[in-house]
Amino acid sequence: MSQRPATPEEALLRHWGYDSFKPLQRESLAAALAGKDSLVVLPTGGGKSLCYQLPAAMGKGLVLVVSPLIALMDDQVAAAREAGLAADSLHSNLGAEAKREAYRRLASGKTELLYVSPERLLAGDLLQDAAERLVLAAVDEAHCVSHWGHEFRPEYRRIAEVLERFPKAARMALTATATPAVQEDICAQLALRSPLRLIGHPDRPNLVYRAGPRRDQAGQVLAVVRNHPGSGGIVYAQTRKDVERLAAGLQKAGVSCAPYHAGLPAEERRRAQDDFVNERLDVVVATIAFGMGIDRSNVRFVVHANTPRSVEHYQQESGRAGRDGDPAECVLLFAASDLAVHRSLSRLDEGLTPERQRAIEKQLREIGRYAVAPVCRHRLLVEHFGAPYAGADCGACDVCLGETKSLPAEDARLTAKKVLSAAWRAGGRFGTTYVAHLLLGRADERMTRNGHDALAVFGLLKEQGEPAVRSWIDQLIVQGFLEVAEGEYPLLRITDAGKALCKDQGAVRLGVPAAVAPRAKKKKKSKALARDTGSGLMPDEELFERLRALRRALAAKRGVPPYVVFHDSTLAELSALKPASLDAMRGIKGIGESKLERYGAAVLAVIAGKEPT
Ligand code: ADP
Ligand code: MG
Repeated sequence: MSQRPATPEEALLRHWGYDSFKPLQRESLAAALAGKDSLVVLPTGGGKSLCYQLPAAMGKGLVLVVSPLIALMDDQVAAAREAGLAADSLHSNLGAEAKREAYRRLASGKTELLYVSPERLLAGDLLQDAAERLVLAAVDEAHCVSHWGHEFRPEYRRIAEVLERFPKAARMALTATATPAVQEDICAQLALRSPLRLIGHPDRPNLVYRAGPRRDQAGQVLAVVRNHPGSGGIVYAQTRKDVERLAAGLQKAGVSCAPYHAGLPAEERRRAQDDFVNERLDVVVATIAFGMGIDRSNVRFVVHANTPRSVEHYQQESGRAGRDGDPAECVLLFAASDLAVHRSLSRLDEGLTPERQRAIEKQLREIGRYAVAPVCRHRLLVEHFGAPYAGADCGACDVCLGETKSLPAEDARLTAKKVLSAAWRAGGRFGTTYVAHLLLGRADERMTRNGHDALAVFGLLKEQGEPAVRSWIDQLIVQGFLEVAEGEYPLLRITDAGKALCKDQGAVRLGVPAAVAPRAKKKKKSKALARDTGSGLMPDEELFERLRALRRALAAKRGVPPYVVFHDSTLAELSALKPASLDAMRGIKGIGESKLERYGAAVLAVIAGKEPT
């Protein structure tokens, strides 16, 4: 693009077709232009890429982006090129010819935006020719420098050494999920110089969170998938075997779906990822290995069939839903036994310091609390990341939607005492199932032999049913009133806090979870109709689908994923407003000058009723 945008607003509109900044984008741009270091913490979908792409769009010089995700880099470069930026990447997966080209453009001074892997950056000499032009060095996914977060990457700790060579370039560290401790670590490890801290609010209001006990894993997963027919979704499971089993079940139920885990051949994994990103596949069932390398913006649901390791992991993985800002659902199926599995796996790591072990214990308690506390889940997540949550009722989680109900304080205390005294009576020599059966009044031979069927607690919670009783046991575990002892068999024991509660010292909260995997709702007829175009006009369902077909064709022709060409929301707006000229199309969100030039005519033709060519 020849003439440079004079203002940030002009750059935003011309290159991306957006007419207003998202929170903190303007501030981060201003910091970069003033040569000031910054730490930018914005949730997934918060628009972090634009924070470092805008200075490049304004023609201020070369912007370097360090990113750990090679798989994402190509899509990011594709998206930046679609917006009309001279973008390139350098990493080990690049072919020889592409690499030569990228170096040539860099040396000739054409490159405005350069993505590199940390390994490539540390290999040295990269920016010799371009040092003078470097205005900004951005480090994306900056939480990778921190031991306290997750996805720790040792190479990240050496990035600062390289950046020292470019003292004039501003530094910008970006991440989605960072507790205050991780934020400190990032600033220190990347040697940010009195950085401006731009900390956004971590809430993702377009996500509906649901959490509750796992009862019938395959059935619950299928129910969620069925609530989103034809939409993209990710199911996370703990082990390869779980992944295979769940994927087979979904396939049998007619869902377009593939498994993804480290045990599959690389070719098969690549195909699953590729098909998912290019919308030839609706659902991927995966271990957490999947997702690091995908940026598909219209993922409509993420289900955790097992409990993740920490709230950080949960935020990161569930955060892959709804990047486009449209409504999406995140469901967590909880079982206390998952936490025990994580705990014993972590014990296998012999290099673990006692300090780190304590940190892991804390993370397990926190994710357990998230999953079973009858408290607004938006609030729990937001507060976990050190931000206040203003609203009383989010209207977008199982608790605030009234699906999971809180027991009144007095009922909670009485119920907890019943469960605790059963565990106490059982003397810490039995597991969860035994104690649950005791409370439900289900005597087997062993219980009779022990004389436990004669205890006062026998059958005390018979009326409440097994799911509730098991969930209460879990809830008391995560609140520290019960514990599961390690050993050959996991034994349920009352803690000192539990004994105190039996004497009415301390406070407890208990919820009655509804079936997670919401009852089949009346499904809106069309995905297009479910969207709010912001214009107040209803999208035209039939046109939306034709535009979607056009998008798929255009994307395939250019070898980029469909979401890079247009977002769903852009298609929805096009189908509602039906612009009849290129000029009318300019006003539509997500269509900048270069997309207008590239795709405008084809879109007009489809709106006018012609078949895409
Ligand atoms: P993050 O890296 O923070 O997860 P991205 O940079 O991938 O987020 O942006 C998420 C989506 O938001 C992208 O599709 C992007 O085009 C869009 N976006 C970014 N800035 C704006 C804006 N100012 N107005 C509307 N959409 C925006
Ligand atoms: Mg990003």
